[in-house]
Amino acid sequence: MAIEFQPQQDKWVKCISNSGTIRAVAVNATEITNYLAKRHNTALAGTKSLSEGVIASLLLSSYCKDAEKINLNIQASGWCHQAIFDANANAEVRGYVIERNYDDIQLAKNVGPWGIGLLSVLRTKTEESTPYIGTVPLLTGHLPKDLTYYWLQSEQVHSAVGIDVQLDFDNNTVTFAQGFLIQALPGATDEDLQTIEDHMRKFNHLDPDSAQRKTPTHLLSFLLENQAFSVLEEKPLCVKCTCSLERVRRSIALVGPEEIDSMIEEAKDVEVNCDFCSEKYTFTVDMLAEIGKNLRK
Ligand SMILES: [Zn+2]
Repeated sequence: MAIEFQPQQDKWVKCISNSGTIRAVAVNATEITNYLAKRHNTALAGTKSLSEGVIASLLLSSYCKDAEKINLNIQASGWCHQAIFDANANAEVRGYVIERNYDDIQLAKNVGPWGIGLLSVLRTKTEESTPYIGTVPLLTGHLPKDLTYYWLQSEQVHSAVGIDVQLDFDNNTVTFAQGFLIQALPGATDEDLQTIEDHMRKFNHLDPDSAQRKTPTHLLSFLLENQAFSVLEEKPLCVKCTCSLERVRRSIALVGPEEIDSMIEEAKDVEVNCDFCSEKYTFTVDMLAEIGKNLRK
């Protein structure tokens, strides 16, 4: 069965400054990052990259319209080989990382923990429309900085991005996971842009204990301290995967009747794991025979 996890507290809060020139979203994702890390059984570096990626994908999807959704795909030389996430305007997210053996993680000097690589964002408006893809190099190895570059390069929007994930190293759990995105809208002045940059520096110096107590709305007040703003939306987050037995059945059918025959000859159950949620689907020999039979009809 496809998984669905509805946390108690996690949400995003979106706002716009009363001047109409700055918009911002703050995300608290502590419960869902813990949930996903447990499901995927990630090691420390995997938990950290998974959590940062979840927040990044939610920031990206927070300004999606209605049926629009995004896929974030990061290929990296640091913490993980690859990180893949889906998120949409309903604050639903799923994703996973392909971890790197901890001893194999070698980071170049002056490069952040993600290392170098490629960051791609695929935006799909509807099932029928052609997706739009924006790709930038991972340059700094710090996801917030590379995302800031993505928004500027790919969508021509001045942004400030912050992602803060704190781990309990002994238990490999996420103590808190939080992020924000502030963007300059048309009409923003140089002063507005400067304010964004100043805010960003402040977030970097936030002491973890005080950050821990901040709800997304508190975080927005903190970041936009000199700006009056109105909250536009508060939405609870949700982990949701679209996998199902039927979908896996269809993907097995794609290998063709001969390949299915050889699976049957091995006389063993075939187990298929969903990459996105680690759900296990088991196909017995009888089920495989049924798929093969239908293909030969
Ligand atoms: Zn799944």
